[in-house]
Amino acid sequence: MALVVQKFGGTSVASIEHIERVAKRIAGYRDRGDEVVVVVSAMGKETDRLDELAKSVGDSDADFRREVDVLLSTGEQVTAAVLSMVLTKMGYPAKSFTGGQVKILTDASHTKARILDIDTDNLRRELSQGTVPVVAGFQGVDSDQNITTLGRGGSDTTAVALAVVLEAKECQIYTDVEGVFTTDPRVVDVAQPLATVTFEEMLELASQGSRVLHTRAVEFASKYKMPIRVLSSFSDAAGTLITNEESHNMEQPLISGIAFMKDEAQLMMLGVKDIPGIASRILGPISDANIEVDMIVQNVAADKSTDFTFTVRREDYERATAILESVAQEIGAREVTGDNKIAKLSIVGVGMKSHAGVATKMFKVLSEESINIQMISTSEIKISVVIEEKYLELAVRALHTAFGLDAS
Ligand code: ASP
Ligand code: MG
Repeated sequence: MALVVQKFGGTSVASIEHIERVAKRIAGYRDRGDEVVVVVSAMGKETDRLDELAKSVGDSDADFRREVDVLLSTGEQVTAAVLSMVLTKMGYPAKSFTGGQVKILTDASHTKARILDIDTDNLRRELSQGTVPVVAGFQGVDSDQNITTLGRGGSDTTAVALAVVLEAKECQIYTDVEGVFTTDPRVVDVAQPLATVTFEEMLELASQGSRVLHTRAVEFASKYKMPIRVLSSFSDAAGTLITNEESHNMEQPLISGIAFMKDEAQLMMLGVKDIPGIASRILGPISDANIEVDMIVQNVAADKSTDFTFTVRREDYERATAILESVAQEIGAREVTGDNKIAKLSIVGVGMKSHAGVATKMFKVLSEESINIQMISTSEIKISVVIEEKYLELAVRALHTAFGLDAS
């Protein structure tokens, strides 16, 4: 007998038929003698609808933050109640819980609250009576009993946090895909689900655009070494186990996956004086404008003047260019140019740590396809390049094949 936390996302509970299917799955675990704590998301796109409702009144108004959270949190409450009713009717006693009823204590930052503490007493009491607690995800309460929400996609974080405090065997996240894929299957049709992936790799894959899990949930799981299994509620496939490196397969392939991000842009300031403080003079005003900077390259100056290049999200390109042009005037740089048709691609894998030559292989594959690399950055488990957006798909396919990731 084991305790598992099972979280069902919006697509898994989109209708009453979906909820019945989910209930059967939970019942299957109960029949085997497992204890189950369930966490649910709002049905389908309900949170989007509530969000629009809030926006139509004016959700940016600071006075309304508290009410926005009361509104947004209702979606999960509906699912929790309906699923509890369905389970109970099937002969598996279940009981819904709001975040407040569990006592999921958060800070007071409405719409992006962080969990501070979870009281397990109420849940343990239900479990000991053979009841299935069904917890509304994505919500908590602050120390003044105000309802808070954890940020969009936050039910994953609720699930992992509950798994940690309840010392569950694993946290299962049910979604509409069969796990974490080697790359986006909509782009590369021979992409395949990974059997295992490390927390580190998952964080890189997620932040690069393979958005399967709430990033904070993965960080949480990694910190407390709580294994997460991502699986589809529409199939019986084994899914992907996300775990720490030690319990990971020793026969690691070099590369676990390829992440990419379209809609990137590159900005360049040419002929910048190579003196201390210049990087902060250039990037300070960009970050003051809340524009997120990703890759940064400054060339070695051959003649006291250098070129400074960085990437931003494409939607920020115009704004960033305007800021750079005024900075260029102030600091006497020669020219500001840019390119808003670039993409970023990263190969990710813990296998790189112990193998030389991964970068060389990557560059060779790209050169064989005549794809020009515009920027490069590396970390211990990742190599990222910036290329022209029109070659992105070609590059992903070629690398996917070259690193042996294609499904057979
Ligand atoms: N329902 C919330 C959202 O759509 C939370 C979640 O599903 O994780 O963002
Ligand atoms: Mg989600």
